[in-house]
Amino acid sequence: MNAAFDWRAEAARISFRDQAYIGGQFVDAVSGETFDRVSPVDGAVLARVAACDKQDVDRAVTAARAAFEKGIWADQSPKNRKRVLIRLAELIQKHANELALLETLDMGKPIANARNGDLRAVAECVRWYGEAIDKLYDEIAPTPKNALALVTREPLGVVGAVVPWNFPLLMAAWKFAPALAAGNSVVLKPAEQSPLSALRVAELAAEAGVPPGVFNVVPGMGETAGQALGRHMDVDALAFTGSTEVGKLFLKYSAESNMKIVSLECGGKTPNIVFADTPDLDAAAKGAADGIFYNSGQVCDAASRLLVEDKIHDVFLSKVAALAKNYQPSDPLDEKTQMGAMVDATQTKRVLSYIAKGQEEGATLALGGGQVRKETGGFYIEPTIFDHVENRMTIAREEIFGPVLSTITFKTADEAVKLANDSKYGLEANLWTNDLTKAHRIARSLRVGTVTINNRDGGGIEVPFGGYKQSGFGRDKSLHALDKYTQLKTTYISLG
Ligand code: NAD
Repeated sequence: MNAAFDWRAEAARISFRDQAYIGGQFVDAVSGETFDRVSPVDGAVLARVAACDKQDVDRAVTAARAAFEKGIWADQSPKNRKRVLIRLAELIQKHANELALLETLDMGKPIANARNGDLRAVAECVRWYGEAIDKLYDEIAPTPKNALALVTREPLGVVGAVVPWNFPLLMAAWKFAPALAAGNSVVLKPAEQSPLSALRVAELAAEAGVPPGVFNVVPGMGETAGQALGRHMDVDALAFTGSTEVGKLFLKYSAESNMKIVSLECGGKTPNIVFADTPDLDAAAKGAADGIFYNSGQVCDAASRLLVEDKIHDVFLSKVAALAKNYQPSDPLDEKTQMGAMVDATQTKRVLSYIAKGQEEGATLALGGGQVRKETGGFYIEPTIFDHVENRMTIAREEIFGPVLSTITFKTADEAVKLANDSKYGLEANLWTNDLTKAHRIARSLRVGTVTINNRDGGGIEVPFGGYKQSGFGRDKSLHALDKYTQLKTTYISLG
């Protein structure tokens, strides 16, 4: 990123795509309705975006189905789809500053994170699935000599994707990149808090050569556009990322409509377990602070429960508190900012109510806890640390989705595992210890989709990501994601 780049000046110049993208064209909602995109950076209205409802979703699904039936994408050779997706990845890289700015203005994350974190990962994701798709072979099953059994992967048809606002394009790319690579048509509903970057990427996809109707974007509310996609009779699969509560609704929508395949990437309450024998306590403290304050804690696998061995409680917590100072909320458009805004007023209120609840239930507020920068018109919360938390307390059980750390102490490894697993969620766990045997033993006992040991990095696009328990099912990232967007067909041939 160019240090001299003037993001504020660029923000004043930038234009927004505010219509739905259906059948290769930007169109208004049939109803003519729009909704205001209020920036959490300063409370300004950025754009009035098409508020799609059932009729628009129906148009998008019809366009997606027609494109699929015509075979203009699905029947292209994998090599051709690869070329187009790699071109799209290059266009995303070329326009990374603009896309990053759209995300920062839309949902308040620091521009450096958007540009160097999200946008790099989005381009990598699209490129990775493009690169992968012409290197996958199907199977021949073992049969008697007089038969041949082919097991082939086929695209499903129309895939609906409903995604959240915390990593707007990245969560979308984790769905649309493998779905498109496999030959499906896609109807994407971005979160109402962050539709702007997805609408711009739809345009870039067309420029890259994705045919009209293959990639559609329908901005709108969850209860209208999201529900219409979930209940549509001609959507073959629905890939969702968001809260557990809404994830459950998609199972209901499927059951009450056409039994479409549903995959769910939902909430989390990651335990970050720190043992006294941790080789590098400073690295562990940095992991703990980054783990809860990055993206203002609006991260599904945020390390929101710090489980620390009682022997090192005081020293460790003072290290984390010192690092928390780097996360004082500041202007998201300043490249030095490490923590920006909360996504909106609703989320801010929700997080503040959890902070109040933590105090009511007897936890000790050790750092922060307040709303700041109110004079900007935006929404900002200080890095907040609770100590003396018990796992039964609300702040240890519910997903806060804000910069709020709950600290719990333990004495033994068994106790740590018990605490870690005592949650309805099972997305991720982090573990810090010098004892490899202990680490492996604990990793096996943790009922989560990802365990990180002596780091907070769960790996890039090459490893699967997803949850156990009420964190959902199905996996994003890696070749395993393709399982969500393909069917297996058996063709059994008699050879006489
Ligand atoms: P959310 O569940 O409120 O919304 C997610 C999406 O669902 C949005 O597009 C929204 O418009 C739509 N939606 C909302 N209500 C709906 C309804 N009644 N019917 C149909 N669609 C509806 O979640 P959010 O607040 O946008 O995002 C935060 C949540 O996302 C957190 O719980 C977080 O853990 C989760 N998340 C999970 C992962 C993961 O990979 N597991 C990644 C990022 C975020």
